[in-house]
Amino acid sequence: YDPNTHTISYLQTRTYLPVKSLPPKEKKRILVTGGAGFVGSHLVDRLMLMGHEVIVIDNFFTGRKNNVGHWIGHPNFELIRHDVVDPFLIEVDQIYHLACPASPPHYQYNPIKTVKTSVMGTINMLGLAKRVKARFLLTSTSGMYISYVYGDPEEHPQAETYWGNVNPIGPRACYDEGKRVAETLTYAYMNQDCVDVRVARIFNTFGPRMNANDGRVVSNFIMQALKGEDLTIYGDGYQTRSFQYVHDLVDGLILLMNTDYKEPINLGNPDEYTIREFAELIINEVNTSSKITTLPAPKDDPKKRRPDITRAEQILGWKPRWPVKQGIEETVKYFQRQLEAGLI
Ligand code: NAD
Ligand code: UDP
Repeated sequence: YDPNTHTISYLQTRTYLPVKSLPPKEKKRILVTGGAGFVGSHLVDRLMLMGHEVIVIDNFFTGRKNNVGHWIGHPNFELIRHDVVDPFLIEVDQIYHLACPASPPHYQYNPIKTVKTSVMGTINMLGLAKRVKARFLLTSTSGMYISYVYGDPEEHPQAETYWGNVNPIGPRACYDEGKRVAETLTYAYMNQDCVDVRVARIFNTFGPRMNANDGRVVSNFIMQALKGEDLTIYGDGYQTRSFQYVHDLVDGLILLMNTDYKEPINLGNPDEYTIREFAELIINEVNTSSKITTLPAPKDDPKKRRPDITRAEQILGWKPRWPVKQGIEETVKYFQRQLEAGLI
């Protein structure tokens, strides 16, 4: 600042990762709701690197500006604080609708808000898609298949043709039923108003930028192992999950958005672990003296979960490329760096 002339001179010091230069016909304007969250920020990275124009709306409930901070100021990027429960108007070609808390402690913190986010947020984004003729992709969940108290799922692994077995009044219902209604809305807008829709049913996903204290098993176990604390298994630890690395999910979401297929598609890694095996894998990866301790199982905790990904393989030519162990190595490094930098 020069007080004599009252002029401010800016030094352009920011550098960005190099983005592709697309011809105007191929360059899309893409809205990512929940783009400051874990999955959203990785999707934003990829879309930016591909050379598109990306607009993120997020209310920062579970997301962080830092997750996309490396794009702030880039001419192709815009970050807007907005809650999807309120309408939003913008001209875009595609909408990836991710806004919704995803970890059980976060979505159970304010169940009414979680339902509002899924229902009103999805109506608002579908209304926008209808108005501006944008293609709309919903990130639904494997939780729409099972969240129940009565034993094993009726179908294992879960294919898209399985309609699910969800307890409508249990603690997970705000999320699982919210997503089920979001799917219903998506196909209602397709059938009634010709909105061009895609639905991804995502299974447990992990990777860098997961919220360290969001209560999900991957972040809990890694943080506990890094701090030398005991790993907390809820229940007997024989419940199973299948974990997919976030880069595989992002591949699948972009492929799905850009195909003509409109039915729901599972995206997940079929490599199934008991939670006990998974705890041991993390103890080995971190090379810690941590032991395993058990705590009571949460209500309605699904006993088994594994995706049938035949449809994704056939329609998208997609299957996970990251072995779980390799993904865990990367995620451990990320949390280690965050701890060392005093950020978590
Ligand atoms: P996340 O909590 O890291 O990200 C969600 C983002 O949405 C956050 O940035 C949050 O601030 C934002 N958000 C929440 N409510 C909002 C609102 N009302 N208005 C605007 N923004 C809001 O979770 P994630 O793991 O990145 O999940 C992203 C999407 O993928 C979610 O829709 C989730 O249901 C779905 N999904 C994720 C997984 C998984 O294992 N990560 C599994 C199945 C489905
Ligand atoms: N879990 C656990 N210890 C933890 C956190 C979670 O044993 O510290 C269990 C949880 O009960 C569930 C599984 O790990 O059986 C996956 O939990 P997460 O919250 O990650 O996802 P979701 O239940 O939605 O699949």
